Amino acid sequence: MTDAYGYPRQRMVRDLAARGIRDQRVLDAMGLVPRHLFVKEQFLAKAYGNYTLPIGEAQTISQPWVVARMSELLELEPHHRVLEIGTGSGYQTAVLASLTRWVFSLERIHDLGTAAIRRLSGMGYDNVKVQVFDGTVGWGERAPFDRILVGAGAPKAPPPLVEQLAEKGILVLPEGERSGQRLAVYRKGLKRVRREECEEVGFVPLIGRHSWES
Ligand code: SAH
Repeated sequence: MTDAYGYPRQRMVRDLAARGIRDQRVLDAMGLVPRHLFVKEQFLAKAYGNYTLPIGEAQTISQPWVVARMSELLELEPHHRVLEIGTGSGYQTAVLASLTRWVFSLERIHDLGTAAIRRLSGMGYDNVKVQVFDGTVGWGERAPFDRILVGAGAPKAPPPLVEQLAEKGILVLPEGERSGQRLAVYRKGLKRVRREECEEVGFVPLIGRHSWES
């Protein structure tokens, strides 16, 4: 099958490697997921550039570098069960689903959640479950999770998410102000949780019971 976007997608992957992404599995996954199917028609020409683009409801699809970096920081393995907060377009969800066994994803905005469910199932991702509710409370019935990724900015890690992390689990989220954050990585050990800070990022706010008010 010819893929009109194959060339721009490969260029995007080379650019991600040039910007320091090292995890080859992440690069391979992003070389396969058709990002142009997750953006609005008027942004098709920018689908494989390193841009954040509007997806409606005042939300955005994260730029490819951020998706790659967060996926890399998760140190994903094929058997992992992953929880994602903030499905949005479903692009990050699809990248995670290409790399792991199960992805559970929560979106608080009904129309975005249902559009993502339709898009992902239409594309054949059968290892993804998306539901519409406040992800700051986590997904108790499906816990524990080996990995948790939060795709929206929070003042600090919502406590239910740290609780729902499995032993040796990793949680990655943008932490800081509404206007700007840093990627934080939490690692759950036997006795304590270690926290480490990485790059500066700019995400839309995580809104919910254990984060910002709307
Ligand atoms: N990774 C997504 C980014 C979406 S933007 C993508 O690439 O498309 C962040 C998303 O988080 C938005 O859709 C927003 O509605 C959602 N969000 C914000 N607070 C949330 C919460 N408490 N629970 C679930 N989703 C939330």
